[in-house]
Amino acid sequence: MKTIHFACRSGRPSGRSAGILAPLLLALLIPQLSAAEPLLPEPEKVAAHSWAWVGPYGPPTAENRGFRMNLGFVVGDEAVAVIDSGYSDAMAGAMREHIAAVTDRPIRYVINTNSQPHRVLGNAAFREAGAEIIAGAEAAPRITDQGADLALSAESVLGVPAGSIRAPGAPERLVESIETLDLGGVTLRVIPVGTAHTAGSLVVEVVEDKIVFAGDVLYGGRLLAVLPVSRSDGWLEAFGELRAFDGALFVPGHGAVGPLADFEHPTHDYLLALKTHMDAAVDEGTGLQEAIGAFDQSPWQDLADFDLLSGRNAHQTYLEREAAAFE
Ligand SMILES: [Zn+2]
Repeated sequence: MKTIHFACRSGRPSGRSAGILAPLLLALLIPQLSAAEPLLPEPEKVAAHSWAWVGPYGPPTAENRGFRMNLGFVVGDEAVAVIDSGYSDAMAGAMREHIAAVTDRPIRYVINTNSQPHRVLGNAAFREAGAEIIAGAEAAPRITDQGADLALSAESVLGVPAGSIRAPGAPERLVESIETLDLGGVTLRVIPVGTAHTAGSLVVEVVEDKIVFAGDVLYGGRLLAVLPVSRSDGWLEAFGELRAFDGALFVPGHGAVGPLADFEHPTHDYLLALKTHMDAAVDEGTGLQEAIGAFDQSPWQDLADFDLLSGRNAHQTYLEREAAAFE
């Protein structure tokens, strides 16, 4: 961009020489422009005090630089709270720049809605800037003990130099029951909802805004991921708790912002169908492959990442029930 301004301001390239120079300049600039593309888009204002970055789908790659999830922040009269710190120091830096364009209030809190890399790997950068890191008590051991490994593997996924993504470190505050944060005229309720997608999941209600940041308890336009650490029964219970927020708008972990009704099909109905089918299969002694083959996932096949995750989800939900049968 600088080069273009320089060429314009110099005023000299005109007529024939500009005609020759312009395509040359463009050819030189195109790779630089794509490399300099912002890591994050502009955040969307979803209510009076609440903003969200709504990411694309798919796994983290060098190309998306790890941005493929939703993140957010809430601005009060006195302070800012950030919902999830992103996948890298660089992403946290980009978040801070966007936030600074909205408010000069300090970032006092960062809430990790779970222990996954895309929610915690910006913690060190925000802590350095003065924020207190808040996480679910059951999410903290993974963040603290495995954080260095999570950072290393994120570096290799993104193909960035060693040392450019720091370990998240130990969260300063652990949430075991509902906590209230006062940002000055705006109240957050940080609510633990147990083991859903992962252990120690938190949702954050912005009381005055009727907004709920639900983290990976809610998935919108893409298929959710059942992980070895997920509990589909706990996840359905967590979804049930969200029904208490009458008339709220929900910022999911992945997908567009919307009322809870938008997430019934991709999150609730999918989990319930999967769990019901696999529970019955295990109880009846049906084998793993047969049980997977007999589960009709076609109602969800239009969701993004379906091919990547549908088989794994069926497999994992079967194993979960099988393990539970031995408990
Ligand atoms: Zn996620």
